[in-house]
Amino acid sequence: MSMLAWFRGWNVHFSARSAAHRLQQQRYLEKWKELPEHLRTPQQVAGIRAVACGATHSLMEKCNFACTSCYLSESANHTRPLPFEEAKSQLEALRRYLGPGGKVQVTSGEVTLLPVDELGRIVAYARKIGLDPMVMTNGQRLLQIPEYLPTLVVKYGLEKLGLHIDTTQKGRPGMRLGLREEALHPIRDRFARLLEEVKKQTRRRLHAAHTVTVTPHNLDDIPQVVRWVLDHLDTFRLISFLPVAEVGRTQDRRSPDLILERVWEKVCAGVGHPLNRHAMHFGHPQCNITAPLLVVSFGRCHHLVEVVRADHQWDLRTFQRALWEFSAYADLDAGLVRNFLKFFWPLLRHPGVLAEFIAYGCYRLWSLRSWLGSFLLHLATGRPVQVRPLLIVVHQFMSPHELDTPLGRERLAACVFKVPVGNSMVSMCQMNGTGLRRALNLQQLNGSARAGR
Ligand code: SF4
Repeated sequence: MSMLAWFRGWNVHFSARSAAHRLQQQRYLEKWKELPEHLRTPQQVAGIRAVACGATHSLMEKCNFACTSCYLSESANHTRPLPFEEAKSQLEALRRYLGPGGKVQVTSGEVTLLPVDELGRIVAYARKIGLDPMVMTNGQRLLQIPEYLPTLVVKYGLEKLGLHIDTTQKGRPGMRLGLREEALHPIRDRFARLLEEVKKQTRRRLHAAHTVTVTPHNLDDIPQVVRWVLDHLDTFRLISFLPVAEVGRTQDRRSPDLILERVWEKVCAGVGHPLNRHAMHFGHPQCNITAPLLVVSFGRCHHLVEVVRADHQWDLRTFQRALWEFSAYADLDAGLVRNFLKFFWPLLRHPGVLAEFIAYGCYRLWSLRSWLGSFLLHLATGRPVQVRPLLIVVHQFMSPHELDTPLGRERLAACVFKVPVGNSMVSMCQMNGTGLRRALNLQQLNGSARAGR
């Protein structure tokens, strides 16, 4: 029996499967079939829960910074913003490819250089057609124009923001080349305060991701950034490290030790113990490492609970089962308790499955026994305790010379991060590593010149 057939044999079925659901399952199945056999691992999410993630491009290729690692072309700052109708076409192509709830990065160059109502209507349109947009930014304009972010949140329904902050960012006030990442913590603190104030002021949901470009210069600083994020989990629930690829305007070079595994070692040093490098696969394991965690905080400590620990088959089996049975219905934004209640009652109709989950829950609690007593004591005595999710990601884009190699071709075939170009969905690595972004910039420049814009 194939892995997929075994996987699909459980079928708890929480609700009637609609035509839209069946169409989405069909999309997943096609993605699954596209994956090479050896990537159809038990922890593979592509083709089970998602087709891929997507991103926009060309919306506003200009940038107000001059980062030493930058995928933009040398023409970027001469381009004009993309007309809204073309932004809409990109979003519609992404919606067709990704399906409902598709995760889309609203990115380009620095998209907050657009007037807020322009960016806002792109966000609103993405949400209207059923995408899940995240605005990617260096954040500088959010500090300069205090009403920018609240307007995106209240008027246009923005719920997700990706903030890029690191020592490659030439142009950020307070940044000097040669600083360590720790020196940027006051800037990170300022953004954390801004986001918390906006949430309080608007009473809306606003989840943030923190992205960090990794170069040979700041590789050793990764633990400092990880520890900062652990202390700011009310604001950030995703941290993504991106080793530099030698594309676009990038001046930083990738040293031989700047590889996925080495970056992961530094992440593990930040959390204080080794994490399972294969907790979850999303596409090709040489493209990214993704680890879902729960962070339990009380006293002055954070305790990390890995969803899938290395060499724990029961964790893996439960993760598979949760992916297949629950993930289509889970609302990651709704919190643990609401999701628990959502699944608990239907599970009562499947006592065998429920019994296994209860047994598994006890097994996991037993594994936390070294600090579980203190946790319960804090809880019982009304002292603050927090349980929050965290996703740690390392995503390694390819440099041009890696694309046309056996491994590069295999990674492209399994790609889970795509942009719409013409009638196709193109890997972000091809977009930045083949000159395609530059060609699109030039095309846009020529079009603007002809139209007299
Ligand atoms: S964009 Fe590149 S690194 Fe990312 S998933 Fe696609 S092929 Fe892999």
